[in-house]
Amino acid sequence: MAAADMHHHDTIVALSSGSVPSGVAVIRLSGPKAGEVLTGLAGSLPSPRHLALRQITGHDSREIDEALVAWFPAPSSFTGEDCVEIQCHGSAAVVSAILREISRLPDCRLADAGEFSRRAFENGKLDLTQVEGLGDLIAAQTETQRQQALGRMRGRLSELLTDWRVQIIDLRAEVEARLDFSDEGDVADALPHDFVQNLDALAGELKSAIRDVAVGRIVRDGFRVTLAGAPNAGKSTLMNALAQSDVAIVTEIAGTTRDVLEVPLDIGGQLVLLADTAGLRDTPDVVEAEGVRRAQRRMAESDLVIVLVPGGHPVPEIKADCPVWIVRSKSDRSDQPVSGECLAISAKTGFGMKALMAELQSLVTRQASAAAKGEAVLVSRERDRVLLSECLQHLNRARDFHEVNELLAEELRLAGDAIGRMTGVIDAEHVLDRLFAGFCIGK
Ligand code: GDP
Repeated sequence: MAAADMHHHDTIVALSSGSVPSGVAVIRLSGPKAGEVLTGLAGSLPSPRHLALRQITGHDSREIDEALVAWFPAPSSFTGEDCVEIQCHGSAAVVSAILREISRLPDCRLADAGEFSRRAFENGKLDLTQVEGLGDLIAAQTETQRQQALGRMRGRLSELLTDWRVQIIDLRAEVEARLDFSDEGDVADALPHDFVQNLDALAGELKSAIRDVAVGRIVRDGFRVTLAGAPNAGKSTLMNALAQSDVAIVTEIAGTTRDVLEVPLDIGGQLVLLADTAGLRDTPDVVEAEGVRRAQRRMAESDLVIVLVPGGHPVPEIKADCPVWIVRSKSDRSDQPVSGECLAISAKTGFGMKALMAELQSLVTRQASAAAKGEAVLVSRERDRVLLSECLQHLNRARDFHEVNELLAEELRLAGDAIGRMTGVIDAEHVLDRLFAGFCIGK
């Protein structure tokens, strides 16, 4: 069924809080029957946006639970439709009895993944970047992710995008006026003297936002650190020490870490994904060789590679586009002397671990706030990068064509459309389908 068809009659219901059992569970309803359903279950509607304690009763007058209920008449609700929230006891039996009671009613059904947010988008309550922010906020694990996601959900990126779109429309209006009324004599033929200057200023802002995507990506998806080095260099032991748990396999048999093993760490409020990789060496073993290939791929996608080299061992040559740190491992062993030129650690005794963590935290903090000026970077997704780059490209072409009004107007129109696609004013459908597939039921 097409999304648009399902929307406007069905009343949807879902458990919107986490898994049961729990102290309290929140059941959410949205749609034209929400008020009627609540009246049926709770006897009457409470005053709008006030919690009321009610007996929840089934259609056969059977008592189901005692719950706090809230009524949010349209349009002042999350979805913009009539909404109801029922805070019942978080028991599997209570929740399923209430859901059963509601979904047996005509035009009422269980919600699909992301359907509440989708309705909020379709009713103009949230734009696309805000829906993305909401998804990120729900998934956020660290402080910086939370700040970034909240800013996006609260519409701070939308404000910036709207401002850019208005500037583009203003520039375009100047050009269009000359196209439409070029023979009327009351619009000066030449574009305003600061036209190109304004175009350049806007292009400059776009350029800096595109640079910020890399920073925002680190905040949203994590700073990727890869541990590399020869088999037995002490990678798994270091990973366990950093992760403070036995997540990686530590063994004396060389070549046991064959796949890339990743642990999420919270370092100074920033998500760091630490990966232990197969030891780098030439090997006839096909499984181990695949592990080495994966290690190399992971290194290519990293924000930092830490190469562990036991004292006295030669430093392998590592090619990477990101910073590469050589760290001398096993510094507690007197048979493996360490020279002074790089960081030395012993994952066994803890020597040098604080210094390593401090260096790591300082790098991560710098990279996750490069251009942020103390504020969370709101652009973070590949979609942001693609559409901002598209917009910039059209602005640059507009500048190249600034003496041909027809071409100039067309490039400005395309630049504005790229921004419109970011907020979902244009072409939202395919993005929505992908986005909501990643949401869980009840969002
Ligand atoms: P990987 O193959 O690089 O992951 O190396 P492992 O972490 O599995 O370690 C290989 C061997 O070196 C194990 O026997 C570890 O106990 C030992 N090892 C690792 N780190 C240290 C260290 O800091 N000091 C000492 N003395 N031994 C270590």
